[in-house]
Amino acid sequence: MRFLVGHAASATSSSPNLYVVEGEQAFNVTEADPSIGVDLAGVVTGGAEAIAKVEAARKTTSSVPVSSLTPALPLSRPGKIICLGLNYADHAKEGGHDVPDYPALFMRGATTLVPAEGPVVRPDCSERLDYEVELMVIIGKGGRHISEADALSHIFGYSVFNDVSVRDYQRKTHQWTPGKNFDNTGPLGPYVVTPDELPPGAEGLKVETRLNGEVMQHATTSDMIFKVAPTIAILSEFTTLEAGDLIAMGTPEGVGHARKPPVWMRPGDRIEVEVENIGVCANPVVAESDLR
Ligand code: MG
Repeated sequence: MRFLVGHAASATSSSPNLYVVEGEQAFNVTEADPSIGVDLAGVVTGGAEAIAKVEAARKTTSSVPVSSLTPALPLSRPGKIICLGLNYADHAKEGGHDVPDYPALFMRGATTLVPAEGPVVRPDCSERLDYEVELMVIIGKGGRHISEADALSHIFGYSVFNDVSVRDYQRKTHQWTPGKNFDNTGPLGPYVVTPDELPPGAEGLKVETRLNGEVMQHATTSDMIFKVAPTIAILSEFTTLEAGDLIAMGTPEGVGHARKPPVWMRPGDRIEVEVENIGVCANPVVAESDLR
């Protein structure tokens, strides 16, 4: 199943609705059954019962063209957002790092997230704004000490993430937190696709970044050092994973800061990240000063 959370042009409420997407049509399941909720939170935590409700609602509700919707975040208040750094060998190398034998991990806060088509904000304090295409995993069934063999059964779905980074703030100290947590620097969505529609572990999918239409990153999820199943096992060794937690799987080579000369995103740019068979997350870049 393919989901999109969005606002219809005609909507009078400030809340989005949850849609099931089939081809170019989006079916409003929130309208048919308000108990489903206005985003994916209730479905992600609700297990098979919630999916059955969505399927029943899909059969009775009307549809609109996907292109008529303005995307919102799939989960307005996700759980933990855990991110892998240096998870593609070529990207580790371009940043001057050795290939790791344990994933480099950092966390993001929910205030960093921005929906597809929402503005990515370049902060006034830095011009070093960079893109990173990533596969995003959404946990559906929580747990601790999840085995690699069981790991894929804990996934609700997959989405597309742009781990936009403010490089000079990322490297002020050896902790990356500031450079990865500026507000409005984490485009996510617009689609969430359930695992049955993709290869196991979302392996073998093309990942690509385009800046103003020019291809900047191009790789496949098969190049990830830590694949999805071992990553879930590694994370749940130290933390309880919960339904609604997000895991960003890292980015391949081609980021702006490793280019000679470096390429930074600027206000007026359009940045697109794509994971094959999941979708494209496209966003305009704006200056923080222009928002005041
Ligand atoms: Mg990253």
